[in-house]
Amino acid sequence: MNYRHLGRTGIQVSELSFGSWVTFHNQAGVESAVEMMAAAYEHGANFFDNAEVYADGKSEEVMGEALKKLKWRRSSYLVSTKIYWGLHDNVNERNTLNRKRLIEGINGSLARLQLDYVDLLYCHRPDSTTPIEETVWAMHNIIEWGKALYWGTSEWAASEIVEAISIAERHHLHKPVVEQPQYNMFERKRLEGDYVRFYKEYGYGATTWSPLASGFLSGKYQKGIPKDSRAALKGYDWLESRMKDKERLAKVAALEPIAKELDCALSQLALAWCLKNPFVSTVITGASRVEQVHENMKASDIVKKITPEIMERIDAIFGVKKEEEDD
Ligand code: NDP
Repeated sequence: MNYRHLGRTGIQVSELSFGSWVTFHNQAGVESAVEMMAAAYEHGANFFDNAEVYADGKSEEVMGEALKKLKWRRSSYLVSTKIYWGLHDNVNERNTLNRKRLIEGINGSLARLQLDYVDLLYCHRPDSTTPIEETVWAMHNIIEWGKALYWGTSEWAASEIVEAISIAERHHLHKPVVEQPQYNMFERKRLEGDYVRFYKEYGYGATTWSPLASGFLSGKYQKGIPKDSRAALKGYDWLESRMKDKERLAKVAALEPIAKELDCALSQLALAWCLKNPFVSTVITGASRVEQVHENMKASDIVKKITPEIMERIDAIFGVKKEEEDD
């Protein structure tokens, strides 16, 4: 496993990490979570991602129980959680980054995770109704109280992040250091194009999500929706049209010869491709069973096999034209 600095911070994260969205509680109980987290950790993963909204808080409970059983040294791993959507349908408790919600939110997450602190705390989405200054102060206080060590954003516009950073600098507060954007061969907008200048200038970290586009880039949807896959789960029917889209399926089929040439699984090619982007600090992988963890964690070995020529072939499959780099 290779480790990368989280942006310009001193902390290093394994370039492949592990997250619990969809899977913990819904597809994996504590026993299975222990098995998958142990497998990731043995491969060298040191970062485990969660969010209060995952399975309505139960994903954090499962991870908390798993961590208790795993008995790892606390300093040997990082845990993150994210706050925004909330757990209760009530004014001030849904879709907000107000001070009350953030402080009550972190207290709830720590109790469910059975931890004294999380290493990273994210604002899961931007909140256009709360002044960014209020959010920055609350996140700063949470860090000062030792309940989180670093904070970041998820799916914020570059302009919102720049505003948060400049408020923090103006008041000498802890600034956000990392963004959590979606990034895979289909979804590139946050880490390519306009954002590149932002990442270069601010040295912001990036912990990226859905590297396999919810499993689609593993190639397993080529013959329809497998019964034991995410798209077949109750409540995830919104994935169905995406998993049956002929154009998208053809793109994945066109990747198959490349994976064959590199002697790897399609999922490993898709993960290794994400790692080629120098702005990525860690690719957060997901899995519903331990075999997937073993396969995915070996993707680091493929990175060096992906030559510039292969990158160009992949871009061509996805219809992406890169502009010349100016430095
Ligand atoms: P992926 O796109 O990699 O999808 C993971 C799913 O794909 C697995 O649960 C499994 O589903 C399937 N899969 C994984 N590996 C393989 C394999 N080798 N072969 C075949 N199928 C495989 O990642 P996620 O969408 O799960 O996102 C990763 C993490 O990112 C999340 O756990 C979460 O921590 C974070 N995230 C953050 C978000 C944010 O807003 N900040 C949003 C979403 C995720 P199955 O077997 O059930 O088909």
